[in-house]
Amino acid sequence: MKIAIASGKGGTGKTTIATNLSWIISRKRPVQLLDADTEEPNSHLFFSVKYELKQDVEILLPRVNKEKCTLSGECAKACQFGAISVFKAGVMVFDNLCHGCGACSIACPTNAIYEIPKQIGVVKIGKIDQKLAFGTGILNIGEPSGVKIIRELKKFIDGTKTVIIDAPPGTSCPVVETLRGMDYAILVTESTPFGLHDLKLAVEVVNEMKIPAGIIINMASEDYKEIERFAHEKNIPILEKIPFDREIARAYSEGILFARGNKEWTERFEKVFAKVKETLK
Ligand code: SF4
Ligand code: SF4
Repeated sequence: MKIAIASGKGGTGKTTIATNLSWIISRKRPVQLLDADTEEPNSHLFFSVKYELKQDVEILLPRVNKEKCTLSGECAKACQFGAISVFKAGVMVFDNLCHGCGACSIACPTNAIYEIPKQIGVVKIGKIDQKLAFGTGILNIGEPSGVKIIRELKKFIDGTKTVIIDAPPGTSCPVVETLRGMDYAILVTESTPFGLHDLKLAVEVVNEMKIPAGIIINMASEDYKEIERFAHEKNIPILEKIPFDREIARAYSEGILFARGNKEWTERFEKVFAKVKETLK
């Protein structure tokens, strides 16, 4: 079973849910936690991880053979990211905008484009203990996209375990790449109009990808009921509500799992997992 923990915006407590849920359910069955939030991976901060493998991730950057280039401009037209421009004097590639998608190379009518590798980050694989395996993808600072890193990280998915993936925030390409092939998405939101706005975007994405989903409201406020109303309207279950609690916030800031050793929260996270399993039956 593969479960993504996602959110339409950052700062909702997605990593808190991913790490606590992974820890709790791993006490009873083997779990693999993967941190795909490549721009800001911080799940590892809650554990002592023994890494067993570190793998560089590369993309291919285009370079132009001037002798073959006719300045047709087709490469620039094909690039969605504005990473290649054609001038009278020649073609210029902006490496820091390039996603290494290869579209310019395919579009070039004279095969003037060749490619060179560039390391954009790493994937690290290891374990926390015998019951909880761990992996993380880390994008180098300044690189435009972690999609390739997420793709490489997901190659290490262990199908014999329950897999929990901490997705990047938002609804852009890295999130879609993370969600691809997932059995279920837990959408983490907060009790605010901003939380609702971004939750709606996240729901659009999972609906489009036909991934069943449930909602966890973090920093839940009884004064704001719009999230519940939206969930009811869309027929999406509220899996859990975590109140705004100083102790939970303090545990997070100190890199401590608030549910670890806490009977009430252990049971509550086990119930979340039971509801997910029930949906997937
Ligand atoms: S598509 Fe090829 S030939 Fe045309 S400008 Fe780009 S590199 Fe040159
Ligand atoms: S590889 Fe893709 S992103 Fe990079 S310049 Fe070519 S078309 Fe643009």
